[in-house]
Amino acid sequence: MWWTAEEEKNQLRQQDCLFCNIVHGDMPSTEIYSDDQCMAFNDINPVANVHVLIVPRDHVTYLTGATEQHEQLLGHLMRVGARVARQTGISEGGYRLAMNQGVDAGQIVDHLHIHVLGGGLLDKLGTPLGPS
Ligand code: AMP
Ligand code: ZN
Repeated sequence: MWWTAEEEKNQLRQQDCLFCNIVHGDMPSTEIYSDDQCMAFNDINPVANVHVLIVPRDHVTYLTGATEQHEQLLGHLMRVGARVARQTGISEGGYRLAMNQGVDAGQIVDHLHIHVLGGGLLDKLGTPLGPS
């Protein structure tokens, strides 16, 4: 069976996934950075002065499901995080890269992504709120 390049790409896309729709240009976003592996855009509901999301172009649901074949991509996303921090002017003051995995961490979009947070003092990381 043969697929066109477009059809092959769509196999890595999950229908009804918000971030798949954004990286494929079917949903609007404020783009900060883009390359062949990922895209970075402003979070629609920022919790810091700078709040950018870095999203792989191919659908990956959870960090927990990542395999050896995702190692290069995951490393790349971290480096893009540092690049986005420089680009948005928060590199010198300090910033946080964060990934929420699952319910207890508050993951609401099931397409793996890194939050880039900065532009002022950030709250303390990881205080438990109670049982899930
Ligand atoms: P998480 O809790 O790690 O799954 O984070 C998902 C993030 O996506 C949240 O910070 C939301 O504010 C953000 N978000 C949801 N919808 C959009 C959207 N259409 N454009 C940009 N960011 C979004
Ligand atoms: Zn997706």
